[in-house]
Amino acid sequence: MSSDIRRTKIIATIGPATESEENLEKLILSGVDIARLNMAHASHEWTRMIIRRIRKVSQKIDRDIAIMMDIKGPEIRTGDVDIPLELKVGEIFDFNVKPEIDRDNSEKVRSVDVNYRDLVDDIKVGDTVLVDNGLISLEVFEKHDAHIRCRVLIPGEIKSRRHINLPGVKVNLPSFTQKDRADTTVGLEEEIDFVALSFVRSADDITLLRDFLTEKESNVRIIAKIEDQSGITNLDAIVRSADALMVARGDLGIECPFEELPVIQRRAVRSCLAQGRPVIVATHMLESMITQPLPTRAEITDVANAVYELADCVMLSGETTIGKYPTECVGILSKIARRIELEEDTVEGQIAVFTGDRMKVLHSAVVLANEIAHSKILTFTRRGFMAHGLAAQRPTRAPILTFTPNEKLFRQLRLLRAVEPFLMPFASEPDATIENAIAHLKRLRRIKTGDKLIIATDILSQDRLVDSVQLRTIS
Ligand code: PGA
Ligand code: MN
Repeated sequence: MSSDIRRTKIIATIGPATESEENLEKLILSGVDIARLNMAHASHEWTRMIIRRIRKVSQKIDRDIAIMMDIKGPEIRTGDVDIPLELKVGEIFDFNVKPEIDRDNSEKVRSVDVNYRDLVDDIKVGDTVLVDNGLISLEVFEKHDAHIRCRVLIPGEIKSRRHINLPGVKVNLPSFTQKDRADTTVGLEEEIDFVALSFVRSADDITLLRDFLTEKESNVRIIAKIEDQSGITNLDAIVRSADALMVARGDLGIECPFEELPVIQRRAVRSCLAQGRPVIVATHMLESMITQPLPTRAEITDVANAVYELADCVMLSGETTIGKYPTECVGILSKIARRIELEEDTVEGQIAVFTGDRMKVLHSAVVLANEIAHSKILTFTRRGFMAHGLAAQRPTRAPILTFTPNEKLFRQLRLLRAVEPFLMPFASEPDATIENAIAHLKRLRRIKTGDKLIIATDILSQDRLVDSVQLRTIS
């Protein structure tokens, strides 16, 4: 049996390799579901320009993808340096937290500024400081008022504005920063669909962002990125309070012992499955394809693993921002996902057990779909509840054909595993809406005579809306 649709969704980060109209078109045509903007590298001007461009290209090729703005949260970075500093093993090196204080340079110790004033209070002698995504390693051996003094363990070159990780240190920086607010405001003005908050450490961080969005009367959905040890400790509560989770393996792999990474990924995906939240597996999925046209065997197996684990999405970062083969990467993710999805078996036991009556009705629809070969699920949703509920129960083979009259929700539905969204106004009678949807699907040749449809929707019965599951054979 060939697979009907690709059930696993693909997120691609947009950058120099993909930002032109021509390249965006190729990228979207290759099957990307969500475009991600990384605000660590984006000016507001570029952000507005690229969002408009993505919308324009989407419209041109009639494939409206979603846009995710990734805001940086409590990220620690080094300051600017005039020329890169080449650190040597054993060298003594300082990180300044009060750049306004003039340093007495009689000691001839080199240094760089860091954007985290409480560093001196929060770090201990003996702790590790990692610079540039873990490439350079230093050990703290003295704390002073305005700087920490370190010894270089693993050497390397420090350029301007490098990312710093402090494994195991409870970082006392605001979770939703002034920059995040400004970035999000631009995103909301330009009608983004998702906002992903970096370094979420507790459910309270999500509340801060949610309050901000509520204040702005926005229905943008929140993706919590777990990237450090606090995020892992508070995993279940974070999953509960966010709309979706991203397993941000780039920083997780630095903040935690690397052998923990697969364990954390599996735990995080399971927590999402158990609580009915969408989950994204991110970073280094096809890293070697930044420069090479084909993935490594290990990468193929890593992508397959995320699909076997039933993640909703896999994500590309450097592969599509600066890589030589961005559209090829999407094609390869697609190919692996489609193949592995054929191996999927029933997944009872892992997935959410819902207590609400409406969820139980949806559950019966999924049971039916799993029992009837080649069936498809059809559903209707104004706020996303039906689609989320069905996707969360991970039907084995049936696609979830989802109709909505709401444009933003239509794009947001692209996040969900196995959901194929359609935008269509609803008729006043539910039955007419069902007929319209079936006619539309026939026109698209998405369904044909003899197909079995499991329809999960509310219908009008004696002037009351009731939840229903129907089985129809298309005539
Ligand atoms: P980043 O987040 O690309 O913004 O760092 C993803 C990750 O850390 O994996
Ligand atoms: Mn990160």
